[in-house]
Amino acid sequence: MGLQSFFKLYFCTLFENMRTKSLKKNRINVVTLGCSKNVYDSEVLMGQLRANNKEVVHEEEGNVVVINTCGFIANAKEESVNTILEYVQKKEAGEVDKVFVTGCLSERYKPDLQKEIPNVDEYFGTSELPNLLKALGADYKHELIGERLTTTPKNYAYLKIAEGCDRPCSFCAIPIMRGKHKSTPIEDLVTEANKLAAKGVKELILIAQDLTYYGLDLYKKRNLAELLNELVKVDGIEWIRLHYAFPTGFPMDVLEVMKREPKVCNYLDIPLQHISDAILKSMRRGTTQAKTTKLLHDFRAAVPEMTIRTTLIVGYPGETEEDFQTLKSWVEEMRFERLGCFTYSHEENTHAYNLVDDVPEEVKQQRASEIMELQSQISWELNQEKVGKTLRCIIDRKEGKYFVGRSEFDSPDVDNEVLVDAAKHYLKVGEFVDLHIFEAADFDLYGEPIQG
Ligand code: SF4
Repeated sequence: MGLQSFFKLYFCTLFENMRTKSLKKNRINVVTLGCSKNVYDSEVLMGQLRANNKEVVHEEEGNVVVINTCGFIANAKEESVNTILEYVQKKEAGEVDKVFVTGCLSERYKPDLQKEIPNVDEYFGTSELPNLLKALGADYKHELIGERLTTTPKNYAYLKIAEGCDRPCSFCAIPIMRGKHKSTPIEDLVTEANKLAAKGVKELILIAQDLTYYGLDLYKKRNLAELLNELVKVDGIEWIRLHYAFPTGFPMDVLEVMKREPKVCNYLDIPLQHISDAILKSMRRGTTQAKTTKLLHDFRAAVPEMTIRTTLIVGYPGETEEDFQTLKSWVEEMRFERLGCFTYSHEENTHAYNLVDDVPEEVKQQRASEIMELQSQISWELNQEKVGKTLRCIIDRKEGKYFVGRSEFDSPDVDNEVLVDAAKHYLKVGEFVDLHIFEAADFDLYGEPIQG
């Protein structure tokens, strides 16, 4: 779906032109939309601003606003456009002085955005950090490797090990917005990990568009295992988690490190997208149902405790009822510990945009609901196996009546949580604790500290 249709939808609101006094001067508010990669980029921007002695906050009040947008699929674009319009309205009302827009949406649609929302002070692409800093009255400091202002709870942080993607997946607009794959050198990542550990970070969540490809550009070989071997040496880091691997060419030596090193979580996020051979071929994923199934069996044979998270797309062009049933049966057979399901979004300038987006929206939604219903049942059954066990958990936060923790089998925001009754137990946020699991629901577990 193009951006023009969003403008038609959202420009019926007339901006009110009531100027009021700014709330606070010279305070930069960074607003982050989209995925963990964007969170990371916002943190780097904030680190640079802080090093330039600028007052910077994340999603609080400020008279200068930087919106870090997402442009991946229709819903994300809609949210980004809404947020830009919201802050432009605030600017018109005199509640903020300046609005800058950066990130994927801005990279992808800059000329359209400049034309349709001209009240934004300036738009920047994903590789224009120095220019954005200049507009904010700051200089880009090369020497700040690994310096950033984290916005996640103190106990965990994302570590972006590469930028961009060289894969040809037909449905995906990310390579348009993020460019070719570029690995960050191991020594820079170790430096960054040490700095994070010094600030109290205990869990590193390794992210990239494609972890599997790590090192091929820089070292001419897949080097994720070697990176892990170095990161486990960082004092203070107790968990290292892997997000966003690609199935084709997955470096199997990573499994040896996972098995040998207690710091490497028995966890892998590997988006598989579909399983019908016809759809995989059209998606240009370079794999088949047989190869993918074997890969998953190999994972489980090598690391039997491994939690596997995947994401799927339903409603891809040409997806027949038979393709969908193949997918559903396979989900049933594979029993993924964690699974998310998206509906296909027809994105211009992708290879799949040349195909006919022929699965009706309600069928896409229905298929996604069926997959998630099935997964709820699988998740409930797998969770029951945890009842009576003791899990080492990190406590992320206190929320309402509960302390909220996670085991090594769960990543923040997307996975299961372990809830502990705060009226009965006091736990320190950011600390590890052994929790006895006494009850399990579809997606969450209930636990209590074993020493009461
Ligand atoms: S590997 Fe991921 S980011 Fe790269 S093209 Fe495929 S879906 Fe997009």
